[in-house]
Amino acid sequence: MQDYILETEGLTKEFRGFVAVSDVALRIRRGTIHGLIGPNGAGKTTCFNLLTKFLQPTRGTIRYDGREITRMKPAEVARLGLVRSFQISAVFPHLTVLENVRVALQRERGGSFDFWRSDAVLRRYDDRARELLADVGLTSYAEAAAGTLPYGRKRALEIATTLALDPTLMLLDEPTAGMTHEDVDRIVALVRRVAQGRTVLMVEHNLKVVEGLCDAITVLTRGRVLAEGPYAEVSRNPEVVAAYLGT
Ligand code: ADP
Repeated sequence: MQDYILETEGLTKEFRGFVAVSDVALRIRRGTIHGLIGPNGAGKTTCFNLLTKFLQPTRGTIRYDGREITRMKPAEVARLGLVRSFQISAVFPHLTVLENVRVALQRERGGSFDFWRSDAVLRRYDDRARELLADVGLTSYAEAAAGTLPYGRKRALEIATTLALDPTLMLLDEPTAGMTHEDVDRIVALVRRVAQGRTVLMVEHNLKVVEGLCDAITVLTRGRVLAEGPYAEVSRNPEVVAAYLGT
């Protein structure tokens, strides 16, 4: 088994001549939580879109779990277990929390789903859905309409629906953005728990969260990798301090 579950080489994305991601070499070690950080406009979202194949790179290669995925389609990489949280987790506000997870479960990885399956069929997914809700601390919200959940709980539901696809590499886009302290603590504990037995790549602005969760980080600025390594090491790098951490 390869040490790195994800490796990019020379990953580059240009938008009409503007280089948003430039020659990026990302290496994500299997079984770790890896942080992707950098100021606004650094290219983090573009990287996520390249990795999940929502964007095609201008140049460069992406290897995931031992195979090249550079030219694959989003559904193909999702089927291989590379899953981004929001990509599959459109929360249906009028369905209950439990129903949302059931719908996610009855989808194949990267497949389509059918709203109109009979309730009897959907109920088969109940046990697993309830397990997932317990995992993310939403048991007491199971029967609530998803649209009525407080924001922090909605993000937890998003994680539950992502877990329904049993990702191998889970991409989380700012899981604590806009949260209260309490919610942040809960999501941190949740990410740590869901990372057991899988790899997580997360974009996160809250550096305390990054420091507490991430085994390693990659710092992007202006589309380029400025530094990578353990947080303690990278956060002492003078270039990183100047570019990003020096607040
Ligand atoms: P981050 O997520 O780190 O804030 P982004 O990946 O969203 O950064 O953006 C990186 C740069 O690429 C920004 O300057 C942004 O304006 C530009 N960019 C992103 N998407 C597009 C696009 N579709 N067309 C043109 N420019 C884009």
